[in-house]
Amino acid sequence: MITIDGSMGEGGGQVLRTSLALSMLTGQPFRIEKIRAGRDRPGLLRQHLTAVRAAKGICGAEVVGDAIGSQELTFTPCMVSGGHYEFAVGTAGSATLVLQTVLPALLVAKERSTLLLEGGTHNPWAPPFDFLQRAFLPLVGRMGPKVRVELDRYGFYPAGGGRFRVTIDPVAQLAPLELVERGEIHRKRATAIVSQLPMDIALRELKVVGKRLGLVVDPPDIVFVKDPVGPGNVVLIEVESENVTEVFTGFGQHGVRAEAVAEKVAKEVRRYLAAGVPVGEHLADQLLVLMATAGGRFRTVAPSRHTTTNIEVIKAFLPSEIITACVDEARGVWEVEAKKM
Ligand code: ATP
Repeated sequence: MITIDGSMGEGGGQVLRTSLALSMLTGQPFRIEKIRAGRDRPGLLRQHLTAVRAAKGICGAEVVGDAIGSQELTFTPCMVSGGHYEFAVGTAGSATLVLQTVLPALLVAKERSTLLLEGGTHNPWAPPFDFLQRAFLPLVGRMGPKVRVELDRYGFYPAGGGRFRVTIDPVAQLAPLELVERGEIHRKRATAIVSQLPMDIALRELKVVGKRLGLVVDPPDIVFVKDPVGPGNVVLIEVESENVTEVFTGFGQHGVRAEAVAEKVAKEVRRYLAAGVPVGEHLADQLLVLMATAGGRFRTVAPSRHTTTNIEVIKAFLPSEIITACVDEARGVWEVEAKKM
């Protein structure tokens, strides 16, 4: 039985999710201790528990310790079955992180899958729906499987209540992913989404990102959420290049000025553009789990703690070798290579 220290590295929900994903994929049981030990509210929160239950349902696992607040869990997977599944977080906890947990196994399941996920769709510290749809899943598509997502309803923190659908056409084996060159930039686009909040917030965000990134924001691209469940706001910057599309998100927060939200995301985009790499910080940790099983290589910005933590968890489950190296210190360019053993 593999033992995982849940407080390792980043020490958050990522250690658990990556362990679940790799356990489902490889069929190896694991025990995780000190789940989210360093967080203010340690142990399993609703979002993590939903991920555990989703993983359990899809691979018929035997699970011990799946309760709110639990800091220890034993997960013994059985057979992964594709099919139709519905998972609801029940709070504003991220539903996209539930998908992140079960997706790797379903990409190589024998059957096609359709999922209905409910919870947060645009949460701070989680992949927003738009990032999945336009940045992450097209790259998954290059590894073979076809994954389509459709947003029914926006779910922002703290109201939640979002919903989206996923269709997965799997393959027998993922193909390696090679993403070293970004290629020419074709388009940069900024969109502000507002739910039950004044349009002024969106206009102020677009004005700042327009100025900082040299984008044309007139006419402004604003999405007003129809039939909103609760208030929320994000500003999205999409950078479409020859070989990849990246999506960066600024999350509106109560008490934080719209200008500050926009400045923060603009800074992240500028760092990405200056490095000249194809893969941004968040894509890196999310691609890594898939690449660890398929092999491949990409260039990115300096690895985040999520990435280095994922590398540690991957080492516990797979014989793959993952090499990270800084290839251009001045521009902050790193190369990450996964060698399948
Ligand atoms: P906790 O740390 O409280 O346990 P958690 O389980 O909600 O939190 P993390 O462990 O922080 O989550 O994992 C966050 C995941 O969301 C990572 O894969 C990270 O790359 C991804 N992510 C965070 N922000 C973004 C973003 N703006 N765009 C895309 N992906 C993001």
